[in-house]
Amino acid sequence: MPGSNQQTDMPTGIKFGELLNRRWFSEDAFEVEFSRPQDFLFKAGHTIKMVHQNLQRYYSPVSGPNDPTLLLCVNYIKEGKLSPILASAEIGTQFAFTGPHGYFNFSPSPRPPVFIGTDTGVAPFASMARSGIKCHAFIQGARHAKALYYQDLFRPLAEKYVSFVWEILDNDTVSSDLFHGKMADLVAQNLKPGVYDFYLCGWQKMVRDVTHLIDKRFPDSRVYTEVFYQ
Ligand SMILES: Cc1cc2nc3c(=O)[nH]c(=O)nc-3n(C[C@H](O)[C@H](O)[C@H](O)COP(=O)(O)OP(=O)(O)OC[C@H]3O[C@@H](n4cnc5c(N)ncnc54)[C@H](O)[C@@H]3O)c2cc1C
Repeated sequence: MPGSNQQTDMPTGIKFGELLNRRWFSEDAFEVEFSRPQDFLFKAGHTIKMVHQNLQRYYSPVSGPNDPTLLLCVNYIKEGKLSPILASAEIGTQFAFTGPHGYFNFSPSPRPPVFIGTDTGVAPFASMARSGIKCHAFIQGARHAKALYYQDLFRPLAEKYVSFVWEILDNDTVSSDLFHGKMADLVAQNLKPGVYDFYLCGWQKMVRDVTHLIDKRFPDSRVYTEVFYQ
């Protein structure tokens, strides 16, 4: 993990991106597109640190490393600080950031890769998908079906794609590959015993629960983690 969102001194190596576009997925999340400085190179899974006024927050681009602009998928936290600013800033506003940061990159190996993400925690996998990276299984979780972002990108990425929600809304369409329940149960049900490379990203509780399950059910597997929120 690149670090927490603690406030520190003004960092060095600042770059600037102009806010070009905003697209809402639902009232809970949106995508923001920034111009990309020519000297900003990154690998799928890296993060950037947005630096705004006295705030510093990490985001994982959903755009691919070769895309001309920088796209972020942001959860709108009404009582938060930076996400409401990103949600309402005028198009054309300049935002400062540093990066790339972190180590949540794809490492090819003989073990089948399994990607598991919750809510906006699927962001690094969107960037990996746009880099042509494939996986054995993709398990996507969210509180509600409307927060299962980028499914069209993820379904072709994996030999096996399953999604789950931990709350069902009245208007949710429950498809044959949408489950309701706990992520750890779903992982246990959908993966044969074996040794895998697990990539876990998003909600801290999911990362903790699935890591415990891996220790018990899939010993000798490798686990890469990135926690976005508690
Ligand atoms: C390595 C890393 C990568 C990250 N990448 C992303 C990303 O790509 N997209 C993204 O939306 N966020 C991401 N985050 C979280 C992001 O840095 C901010 O914490 C988030 O945008 C909230 O900031 P805020 O100032 O609005 O609210 P804050 O005042 O910082 O937080 C308010 C509350 O919101 C919770 N929270 C924070 N992020 C989320 C979230 N994504 N979903 C649900 N609850 C949350 C916090 O736990 C806290 O309780 C990442 C965090 C880390 C550490």
